[in-house]
Amino acid sequence: MLNIIISLAEILRKIMNNYQRVTTRKPEGIESKRAFLIGSGIASLAAAEYLMRDGHMKGNQITIYEQSGMPGGSLDGAGNPEDGFVVRGGREMEAHYECLWDLCSQIPSIEEDGRTVLDEFKELNDIDPNFSNVRSIYNRGEKRRRTDLGLSEKNSKELTKLLLAKEENLGAITVEEYFDKSFFETDMWLYWRSMFAFEPWHSLVEMKRYMERFIHLLPGMSTMRDLLFTKYNQYDSLVLPIKNLLVSKGVSFEYNTTVTDLKFESAGNKKTVTEICLNRNGEDDVVKTSAEDFVFFTNGSMTENSTLGDMDTPPVLNTSEGAIWRLWKNVAAQDDSFGKPEVFCGNIDKTKWESYTITANGTKMKKLLEDFAERKFLPNRTATGGIITVKDSNWLLSVTVNRQPQFKNQPDDCTVAWAYGLYPDNKGDFIEKKMSECSGKELLQELLYHFGIDENDMQPYIDECIVIPAMMPYITSQFMPRVKGDRPEVIPENSVNLAFLGQFCEIKDDCVFTVEYSVRSAIMAVYQFLNLDKKVPEIYGSQYDIRALSDALKTLKSDHEGILKKFIENIIKNKLSNTHFENLL
Ligand code: FAD
Repeated sequence: MLNIIISLAEILRKIMNNYQRVTTRKPEGIESKRAFLIGSGIASLAAAEYLMRDGHMKGNQITIYEQSGMPGGSLDGAGNPEDGFVVRGGREMEAHYECLWDLCSQIPSIEEDGRTVLDEFKELNDIDPNFSNVRSIYNRGEKRRRTDLGLSEKNSKELTKLLLAKEENLGAITVEEYFDKSFFETDMWLYWRSMFAFEPWHSLVEMKRYMERFIHLLPGMSTMRDLLFTKYNQYDSLVLPIKNLLVSKGVSFEYNTTVTDLKFESAGNKKTVTEICLNRNGEDDVVKTSAEDFVFFTNGSMTENSTLGDMDTPPVLNTSEGAIWRLWKNVAAQDDSFGKPEVFCGNIDKTKWESYTITANGTKMKKLLEDFAERKFLPNRTATGGIITVKDSNWLLSVTVNRQPQFKNQPDDCTVAWAYGLYPDNKGDFIEKKMSECSGKELLQELLYHFGIDENDMQPYIDECIVIPAMMPYITSQFMPRVKGDRPEVIPENSVNLAFLGQFCEIKDDCVFTVEYSVRSAIMAVYQFLNLDKKVPEIYGSQYDIRALSDALKTLKSDHEGILKKFIENIIKNKLSNTHFENLL
């Protein structure tokens, strides 16, 4: 009990309430510093913005190196109706992405003068809240109407025990090593793995973090209520406004520039980056740095080496090392505290899966998906209301149509859908091939089959659709089982001027596979490097909110005698009897 009270007090102390939202003082000597950012994903974009917003740097002191020809990294979105649109992923977000919303609260909208990206995002999601009428289907098109999670008492106990466990006691144990076999048959697991892309061999520690961090979302698991979505794809809605702001402030973006190595100077245990080795448009170059400069390295990417196919061709699995992992391996070899990249990038069979974007130029596919979603796809309105998962698909297919249009150059009669399968090495139920061996056309046929369309009736759908598959070898690399030390701290103790950003650095209590985690790492790195007297926005502590716990408990309703309920009841009996809060449960 004492521990709980101490940790609650600690959280309250750390909370960045309005009192903390101060204007920082200009750090001494900031004018003579330079910042170099490796990669132009949201982590680097955020770091650049906070260096200026709170760190008082000028844009012309900041350089971003990006191996590809455009910014945004994993947050992509491109194409046209003739050749097909591509999004490798669609992002579910929620109201407590505290760092992302802090970032967006000062990014000017590119849609409407005088508004911010946060203003437009919140307004849209308030007007059009997400709600899924049909979360899953089975048996070639039957809609499942269950809203409970199908947990037995045993499953509930395992879940509550996991919630109460200490992270350090779980080690590198996997989800399948922990749970009883029956758990993997429950709807809880179906929703969980399709929504968050967890697989049985993934890290139990990460699953625990998700349960704690998103416990307030548990009551909405079967309907996806409380999830938030951008207006367009995330490149247009998030990356572009931030990039435009950074460019307008003078930040330099160097595209087609791959950082190949970092050279360090050692003094005792302390390491200082003194050279950034890079290849710019095929030409090698070296940028000299000193302890006065900052180097920010996004040390891993879930979309590294991803490849596209087309309507007639499957995407080729690229198993070559990839620049981001090569660089992290080079850097990690210099100091034990710089992490262990092989833990995350060393087993592609366990980290890959495949998605595909469907561009439907016509009404047949739209009508089919509208019928399943049980709603009309009106402009700027929630379309399917989240993913529809095919429960009995060998590939575990899910499909979603987010707000339409997803692209600004998308005509009215064009619908863009996004689908993915978590088991690309399994054969299909209609197509007798592994998912990874299928062309875009075959991927579409498998989906149509599960939506109840017979083979003879598929051609009109195929005729109106362009399907672009994307194979992502490292898409769940961040979920691989890990122990302390596998991920470097954002600024490791031995580092003088190098920070690690993104999904592969360690941030206590937060969850990877989120945009939020990358932005949080950026704010942490900037505030720490510049020793700013301002707090990083707190991680929303719904796990300590008795209302969220109580709602979650109702959802896990077979847990009436469960540990968690007893735990809460004890607190209430002991501490809250005869008080205003007594009847909370
Ligand atoms: P990245 O965006 O991966 O950026 C890394 C960048 O570094 C890339 O641009 C890369 O080209 C560049 N680079 C690599 N090596 C080098 C080098 N040596 N030199 C120069 N440049 C280099 N998040 C959510 O919050 N909710 C979701 O529902 C969700 N779903 C997702 C679904 C999919 C399919 C995908 C792909 C992602 C999803 N995400 C989701 C995760 C989110 O998009 C990522 O966590 C986030 O975008 C990662 O940003 P980053 O900046 O850390 O890394």
